[in-house]
Amino acid sequence: MRRFALAALLPVALPAQSAPISDVHYDVTVDSSTAARRDIDVSMRFKVGSDAPIVLSLPAWSPGHYVLLWFARRVSHFAPSVNGKPLDWRMVDYQTWRLTGAHTGQRVTVQFSYRADTIDRAVAWTKLDFAFFNGTNLFLYPKGQDFDWPATVTIHTSPGWRIATGMDAEPAPPNFGAKNYHDLTDSPVFVGHFDIDSTLAAPGHYVRFVSYPAGVVDPTHMTRILGWLNKLAPVEGAVFHDIPWRTYTVLQIADAHPNGGGLEHHDSQTDEIAPDWLDLPFLAGLYSHEMFHSWNVKRLRPADLVPYRYDDAQPTQWLWVSEGITDYYSYLANMRSGISDSAAFLDRIAQNIAGIAQQPPTALADASLQPWIDPTDGSAGIYYPKGALAGFMLDLMIRDASDNHHSLDGVMRTLYETTYKQGKGFTPTNWWTAVSQAAGGRSFDAVNRRFIEGRDPYPWDSVLALAGLKLTTDSTRDVRFGIQLAPDSQGIRVTYVMPNGAADRAGVKQGDVLVSLGNVVFSKYPSLDAAQAALRSEFSANTQAPYSALRAGQTLNGTFPVEFRTNVGVHIAPVPGASDKAARIRHALFTGTP
Ligand SMILES: [Zn+2]
Repeated sequence: MRRFALAALLPVALPAQSAPISDVHYDVTVDSSTAARRDIDVSMRFKVGSDAPIVLSLPAWSPGHYVLLWFARRVSHFAPSVNGKPLDWRMVDYQTWRLTGAHTGQRVTVQFSYRADTIDRAVAWTKLDFAFFNGTNLFLYPKGQDFDWPATVTIHTSPGWRIATGMDAEPAPPNFGAKNYHDLTDSPVFVGHFDIDSTLAAPGHYVRFVSYPAGVVDPTHMTRILGWLNKLAPVEGAVFHDIPWRTYTVLQIADAHPNGGGLEHHDSQTDEIAPDWLDLPFLAGLYSHEMFHSWNVKRLRPADLVPYRYDDAQPTQWLWVSEGITDYYSYLANMRSGISDSAAFLDRIAQNIAGIAQQPPTALADASLQPWIDPTDGSAGIYYPKGALAGFMLDLMIRDASDNHHSLDGVMRTLYETTYKQGKGFTPTNWWTAVSQAAGGRSFDAVNRRFIEGRDPYPWDSVLALAGLKLTTDSTRDVRFGIQLAPDSQGIRVTYVMPNGAADRAGVKQGDVLVSLGNVVFSKYPSLDAAQAALRSEFSANTQAPYSALRAGQTLNGTFPVEFRTNVGVHIAPVPGASDKAARIRHALFTGTP
């Protein structure tokens, strides 16, 4: 772990270590009146253990969301007191308060309001009938002390408002508790009017699905989503021979303007989607990715991230494992659970290969450091798709070297047992030793040097052959739309508009249905891909063309910039007549059986 000496950078030399505190309790008030002013009211109470100053901080980020957001910037009306008398205080830095005048054994109360107006899975958000927050947003901690102290939380809300969180009830809602600060802040909370349903995914293991706003997930979609979660939990648990939670909670917000995506927690996940996305195939992939994190990163984690620090960035060169290999297992889990099939799995791998070819050559170890600075060279987030490909390649290499007796599953399981279960993170040596042992002692030094720390292209022809698979490419000219879409009987329903893409420049908005472009009427084709052939014969080169769309039932006409791009299609398919060994590896990969 890299340490940033924050205090040393500041001109004031005030004590950075807090007096010890104990008996920590947080009262959180979220009701119709706080929601109306888009605030959450917080009151922290504790006993102070010495006469020294009390130094309290709010986190700068939420683990899993590797971006510095500085939650202290949303605090107002900060007011510490003892027995109703105000305590003197001043700020030590932009996220830390120093309180003086309290004495050993006294009970201190610290009150403040938190501005909850941002729809982002790492922050807090309110509507008139709802509030969502992360513990990292609200729960002050004593600076310079460890994080292994228990705390309790009481949530005060309006009559009829529900509470949903992965936090343990203590003893019963609206009272909750956690044994340490890490768990306390890793349980986001929904309060208000929402739907909730659950499924028994394995004996003794429930998955709950919580959805805001109420009614947006209709019974048909609710049944389908619960069916997915029911299948995913045991398949993902099978990798580790363990399901570490009794109840896992999926907290979902559907809003017309989401950031889009999910955030993992140790026994829950928060997802932000648009209502239109309920029909998109990627949704099961989002849930399975975030759920797999309950093993990979929330428990099995690089040593750089153990323990979490909250006051500054915590970079690691291993996000390609924490995120990329999590993505790989989400593809596997969807296939092995029967939600999708092997063709969809191979298609996903092929899409990643095609996508990586468009991005600058980037080492996974370097890319893993990057989310903190959000690079501008086009490589942002490459550790997801390329990390998934690295996982796939390692899996096939291990299966081949061990004659299909071992796999990446075994590597993940071994590290889970030998590092997480022993209370520590995995080191580079732990990782590569586990990989090498699974592969019968084969050295992976060159693989690491070339493909993880280096920028060499992956040798797909030889790697895919290990599982009797073959990659082919073709190229077509397509009209670029710059949208995400869902099928619609009237045309193409636009679920997302890429900023500055062709559709954006034509004035198309999310929710519109594209009816026609030139003489091509989209409802005549089963998909946009199928309509591309007609677009190629309609337009020979880049041009401007009339389009029509439906917006809220009204017809809209405009001009669309028709721009062609050459689309390199990558396809992966089983090779007929593969060797017996390759066919066995392929079967085991697809089914998750040895
Ligand atoms: Zn993730």
